[in-house]
Amino acid sequence: MAIMNENYCNLKESYLFSQIATKVAKYVKENPDKKVIRMGIGDVTLPLAPVVVAAMKKAVEEMGVKETFRGYGPEQGYDFVHEALVKYYAKHGVSLETSEIFISDGAKSDCGNITDIFSDDNVILVPDPVYPVYVDTNIMRGRKIVYVKGTPENNFLPMPDDSIKADVIYLCSPNNPTGAAYTKAQLEEWVAYALKNDAVILYDAAYEAFVTNADIPRSIYVVEEAKKCAIELCSLSKTAGFTGTRCGYTVVPHALKRKAGNGTVMELNKMWLRRQTTKFNGVPYIIQRGAEAAFSEQGVKECGEILEFYRENARIMMETLDKKGIKYFGGIYSPYIWMQCPNGMGSWEFFDYLLEKLAIVGTPGAGFGEMGEGYLRLTAFGSREGTIEAMERMERSL
Ligand SMILES: *Cc1c(COP(=O)(O)O)cnc(C)c1O
Repeated sequence: MAIMNENYCNLKESYLFSQIATKVAKYVKENPDKKVIRMGIGDVTLPLAPVVVAAMKKAVEEMGVKETFRGYGPEQGYDFVHEALVKYYAKHGVSLETSEIFISDGAKSDCGNITDIFSDDNVILVPDPVYPVYVDTNIMRGRKIVYVKGTPENNFLPMPDDSIKADVIYLCSPNNPTGAAYTKAQLEEWVAYALKNDAVILYDAAYEAFVTNADIPRSIYVVEEAKKCAIELCSLSKTAGFTGTRCGYTVVPHALKRKAGNGTVMELNKMWLRRQTTKFNGVPYIIQRGAEAAFSEQGVKECGEILEFYRENARIMMETLDKKGIKYFGGIYSPYIWMQCPNGMGSWEFFDYLLEKLAIVGTPGAGFGEMGEGYLRLTAFGSREGTIEAMERMERSL
């Protein structure tokens, strides 16, 4: 008899996006004349950068010619992408070895798969509110999860303290959904906590490219000792518009080691290499050529212009909220505006109000954790016209 992984029974049904879709579909049906502006989903809308498209086209041609055709590649990615990333990190003051970088089909997969190299006895620390993947992937393993609270008082940037007992720590900076980003000094505190407790930090830097201020780290490895306690997960999804193209990368430093119960020193880099070579067969050559191009000088410039377009949308949104005196977080280092629901409304109450009165779709903050109640996430990934019109509607009617 097959015995199922009953931890799946403990997952909460993910009603969030299906519930939003149902409500929006009903509204559209009942109000065919209204123009609905969608600011809910965290997906990019602008096309890939030209230099990325050209690189992938060239790679397709190579695959059609006997001399340049490629079959299975290295599971951890081709060295040409590793080298492009080593240079990219160097520009942000971080030195890595090519063998510390693993290319994957995205940060969501890596977030889930990395749980393989940790025992199920670990206590997992997750900030609330946050990207729901960290919680669900650990519930699937039956692990104990503890939360640190993001609040307006700590600017949605929870900090460690000695009362916290945790072994694996998820941090997401800039954060989805709040847009809050840790300073270097704050990351130093988390690194100090991890080293003191022999914990490991899983640092999700999916929005690093939105950071423009030199005071905000784009990588946790700008903190001196972080290589001894942190794995960094990153993605080209938001950075280079790869949400549909699929490519991400995970950095596991050689300095990251932990002792097994029998005294054996386990190198996490070796464990992850073994995990990936066993269960994963690599990202398509064509996609990796696109990724290489995205990290080239021209690629960073072209992708930067796309990010600037989204940043301008965020500025337009912040201007309106400022005018209305509505409190919000994020927007500066991220494509997300985390706004307080006006007049003490709850997340879903305000969601309904925005949809029914203004035909604007947001994401209820409560969908990202208990601490998200009373907030709503708006994204800057929309069109310029849509963003401007949504803000005009809010300015008139909020
Ligand atoms: C979008 C996002 C990712 C990226 O996931 P991919 O699988 O690479 O598309 C990872 N983490 C967070 C917090 C995100 O918002």
